[in-house]
Amino acid sequence: MLPGTPRPGRLDLAIDVLKGVGPTVKKKLAKLGLATVGDALSYRPHRYEPAAPDRRITELFGEDEAVIAGEVRSTRLQRARRLKLVKARVADETGEITAVWFNQAWLAERLVPGMQVRLRGSLRGSEFAVRSYDLDGVASTADFAPVYPATEDITVKKLREVVGGALEYARDVVDPLPAKLKAAAGFPVRADAVAALHRPREEADGERARRRLAFDELLVLQLGLARRRQGREQEHATPLGAAGELVARYREALPFRLTPDQEQAIAEIDADLAGELPMERLLQGDVGSGKTVVALYVLLRAVEAGHRGALMAPTETLAEQHFLTIEPICLELGVPSALLTRSVKHDVAEARIVVGTHALIQEGVELGDLAVAVVDEQHRFGVEQRAAIKAGRRPHTLHMTATPIPRTLALTVYGDLSVTEIAKPPANRKPIVTSWISEERASEAYRRLTRLLKEGRQAYVVCPLIEQSETSRARAAEQEAERLQRAELRGFRVGCLHGKLKTDARRDLMARFKAGELDVLVATTVIEVGVDVSNATVMIVQEADRFGLAQLHQLRGRVGRGAEQSYCLLVSRRKEELTESAVERLEAMVRTTDGFELAEVDLELRGEGQLLGTRQSGLTDFRFAKLRADRDLLEEAREVAERLVDYDGPLKDAVERLFADHDLAA
Ligand code: ADP
Ligand code: MG
Repeated sequence: MLPGTPRPGRLDLAIDVLKGVGPTVKKKLAKLGLATVGDALSYRPHRYEPAAPDRRITELFGEDEAVIAGEVRSTRLQRARRLKLVKARVADETGEITAVWFNQAWLAERLVPGMQVRLRGSLRGSEFAVRSYDLDGVASTADFAPVYPATEDITVKKLREVVGGALEYARDVVDPLPAKLKAAAGFPVRADAVAALHRPREEADGERARRRLAFDELLVLQLGLARRRQGREQEHATPLGAAGELVARYREALPFRLTPDQEQAIAEIDADLAGELPMERLLQGDVGSGKTVVALYVLLRAVEAGHRGALMAPTETLAEQHFLTIEPICLELGVPSALLTRSVKHDVAEARIVVGTHALIQEGVELGDLAVAVVDEQHRFGVEQRAAIKAGRRPHTLHMTATPIPRTLALTVYGDLSVTEIAKPPANRKPIVTSWISEERASEAYRRLTRLLKEGRQAYVVCPLIEQSETSRARAAEQEAERLQRAELRGFRVGCLHGKLKTDARRDLMARFKAGELDVLVATTVIEVGVDVSNATVMIVQEADRFGLAQLHQLRGRVGRGAEQSYCLLVSRRKEELTESAVERLEAMVRTTDGFELAEVDLELRGEGQLLGTRQSGLTDFRFAKLRADRDLLEEAREVAERLVDYDGPLKDAVERLFADHDLAA
């Protein structure tokens, strides 16, 4: 136990109160989401460097990793072909050895004679190849040194230093768990867990600490869910009865038969709609699996019962895309529909189906008589339609997501939703053929692309993901489109889609692409979700190594949407120049098109949080919980949450803070 009374306010201090954090480092840390002392304390190491034994220099043997400690005698810089080597003679009481650093030339100046060093590495011939090191007596190399997720501009070593500094504040961490519960579960005090997470005495120590912190995280989420469930039992929706004539005509109008999975989804939804309890269902299915077809079915169910349906999308492009898909069928069925975005505001008075962005519909456009809401691709916690639904009844709500989450996991995480999964895409699909090509051979990719264009197919070229403003991304895309038009794509009709286009221009562009008046769409990631043109069968992703796996998978989902063979060509720098995880991402993309498998790989590479596709939300951005490994904790948290749902105290505050931005009005 740490002495003293916690002063939790100190955890909110800006991170630059810590030693070694100036304005530059502060900025770099901010990119990792580390803004306060508390953030640093909850920055989870993704693993620990296992301990290596201490050895005296004369006792070094074989190639096993070891730690030596001694004094620098002399230093020199040496060039060997393209490598720069720093070599230092290091001595302890038993002898002397040459320690070698690769490509860290700047070290030559820091390693001054007389300096005490601690080096971790192994023998290579008669020299000691250094992997990590501590200068001037800071000893952590040989212990279970935490390895933090680092970036190209901030090293693990620096992160260790920052978090190490923050540990002084660990005693200010408040423990929200009731003492009884803690005792029963055998959990350490939270402050101790925080300290042990970063400075475990042994590996198991760190894991115990992580699990304690994970439990808190899961419990807070489950408490929020339990409160939602409680609240919802008092709410009512309009029962919609059985399926009628309009949806029968809809089925007739579709140019294909629904797949068994789609039929199953519809059956489950119909059962929900018949009741007065508001439907809260998650429809999960990979990109292109046919969710939108089901969504329109649900909307039409509202219409045929004499009410309205709304489809909400997270972005304007996506809303427009949905509208482009839905409008022709609505026309055919004689159902008035309208689009509602920041820039396009159809008159919704007559409309029976309204498609729009989440924001608009939530901001309270008068959508009286809304019986069904379909919410596409946004983390559900971000979505509450309460503003739009002034009083009285709630709509039946279908949440759609293309983020693959194993079903069991979804059931637990989305604790208060029913889950339906479209596991199999329509049978006529051929798996997308994916290749990975290095930049020097990019011309081959374009040759393959133009060959397909000549056969009448269409294509996407995705521009690099530069980390700048939307405006500069747009400009880069436009320049690239012009360049391609003059070079690789000469003679083809090229359009350019980016987030800065005015809505009219964007709609026009998409309509022309859909109508086959453009051959190629050069685009930023705005095409990531929702763009649906089945004649577009080939995609080139430039600088594919910069994209995350989930994003690549989403992008690739823009092709392979029809019966034709589709191709995805990932272009990157040469393999040798890429990070290990970039290589693994690209290899995984080539190996499989299965979203669940890719999600697993992503989980391995990136940890849990991002998997659920909750970029906007943060609610399930778990820092500590590992959803697969911690199933037991999850179950426990769920049970405990049922019992503690009305409990007052720090836990309740934590729940309210977490759900604060998410309108947990219940
Ligand atoms: P998702 O919304 O899951 O990404 P969509 O509903 O947009 O998928 O469907 C992707 C493509 O597959 C669309 O072009 C759609 O017309 C087509 N499609 C959907 N269901 C079927 C089916 N049962 N048989 C054949 N094609 C289908
Ligand atoms: Mg879709």
